[in-house]
Amino acid sequence: MPELVVDRVTKEFPTRDQPLVILREASLELEAGQNAAIVGPSGSGKSTLLHIIGTLDSPTSGTVTLRGENPFAFDEPHLAQFRNRHIGFVFQDHYLLPQLSVLENVLIPAVAAGAPDAATIERARDLLAAVGLAERMTHRPAELSGGERQRAGVARALLLRPALLLADEPTGNLDRASAAAVGSLLVKMQRQEGTMLLVVTHSAELAARLDRRFEIEDGRLILQSG
Ligand code: ADP
Ligand code: MG
Repeated sequence: MPELVVDRVTKEFPTRDQPLVILREASLELEAGQNAAIVGPSGSGKSTLLHIIGTLDSPTSGTVTLRGENPFAFDEPHLAQFRNRHIGFVFQDHYLLPQLSVLENVLIPAVAAGAPDAATIERARDLLAAVGLAERMTHRPAELSGGERQRAGVARALLLRPALLLADEPTGNLDRASAAAVGSLLVKMQRQEGTMLLVVTHSAELAARLDRRFEIEDGRLILQSG
């Protein structure tokens, strides 16, 4: 069984009259270590789909199975633990905490389980070196460039060795050169770590770096290439 199975996910938002149908039986599968891009016009449901796959929102119908488990069957504390343990997120905004150093920010996913141990701190340092921030570990987010903040976000997302890395417009706030660098870093880190990666992007350049491309069209997820 593939590590990630998204099976006929439909999402409707209730309105005063008929419900707004955003996703219509969207399905996709990823094997361990595979990656894919999801493209589509603004408002087509890309973030909605990524949020459902990331267990931040639930489908109206259909299922998501990650490593053989159906996270929507869990109660909220168990779901939060499952999400923290198995899914890493990179958003358009970095969501780094301004009062913490870069290293402390990268350690945040481990803090949910108590104070990070020496091995986890070592892991955070290694990741920061791998994303090119070896000299920036004690800096505050405000002292970094936009591209560097996204690199720190990538390191944070990978800390607990998630099975699945989800990125929603990860280069959307960056200039062209930084966007290209962060895009290639994401793919390099995904390959190095062996995680699955799904990237929602407007950037044809970033989408082209990924092995497969899906497009959302009228709520349907269509494989374009790969
Ligand atoms: P994308 O990320 O592709 O730009 P979104 O997934 O954010 O698109 O949104 C898809 C559509 O769903 C939009 O029309 C948006 O207004 C609508 N939508 C998103 N969240 C909600 C919600 N909680 N309630 C009602 N409509 C929503
Ligand atoms: Mg979006």
